[in-house]
Amino acid sequence: MGKRKALIAGNWKMHTTVVDGCRLAMDVAKACTGYADREILLAPPFTILSEVSHVLEGSPIMVATQNVCWEEKGAFTGEISPVMVKDAGAVAAIVGHSERRQIFFETDEMINSRLKGAVKFGLLAILCIGETLDEREKGHTFQVLEDQLRKGLKTLAPGDMTRVVIAYEPVWAIGTGKTASKEQAQEAHAFIRGVLGRIYEKTVAEQTRILYGGSVKPTNIDELMAQPDIDGALVGGAALDAESFGRIINFR
Ligand code: PEP
Repeated sequence: MGKRKALIAGNWKMHTTVVDGCRLAMDVAKACTGYADREILLAPPFTILSEVSHVLEGSPIMVATQNVCWEEKGAFTGEISPVMVKDAGAVAAIVGHSERRQIFFETDEMINSRLKGAVKFGLLAILCIGETLDEREKGHTFQVLEDQLRKGLKTLAPGDMTRVVIAYEPVWAIGTGKTASKEQAQEAHAFIRGVLGRIYEKTVAEQTRILYGGSVKPTNIDELMAQPDIDGALVGGAALDAESFGRIINFR
């Protein structure tokens, strides 16, 4: 198996307008010296995908959308299609973020459609999964992860998994300042890799990148990235600060 290339993705959520988003992207680009062993992604809001893509032209940083519809076009008010985001410069799409699941009631079925739409149109799809605090405390973490994984990846062919990244994001750690310990994160990542091996086969599991998300900071990135099954990070709050995100992408 070839070594999995690290991936650090910054999710800007519903922050930044044109001017501050472009400035942030430029500042992150300055902090990114270009590496052979890692990839960097920024996920700005839909409204500035084009501008941020232009700003990042010539830099190794790639652009992602924070969500995507499964259809190319049609009567889907408020949605954005894979073709549209690609046209705006995106090469990847986050799907199934816990904020989409919890605030906007996106179901596993809908997330599965989004993921397949992203893959079908040539985007790299980042499937987010993760347990709530209540589920963890009740001892249901593994069951929840397996369920979200199986439903999210339903009917996706093994060959399509080269275009899929999994993000393990414990809901209790997102935006709370409460990071999973490196042991908790590694345990969940190893479990997810095991499930991938059962759904597909060992080679697919070994090749699939699994990111950790949940209060990743300059102070914890190095120990997280030192875990054998942690292949990168999905970063929210700290991605809005170029200095912090710069340190995160320069993890050691
Ligand atoms: C996220 O938005 O996916 C996230 C992990 O946020 P934060 O880093 O702020 O916890």
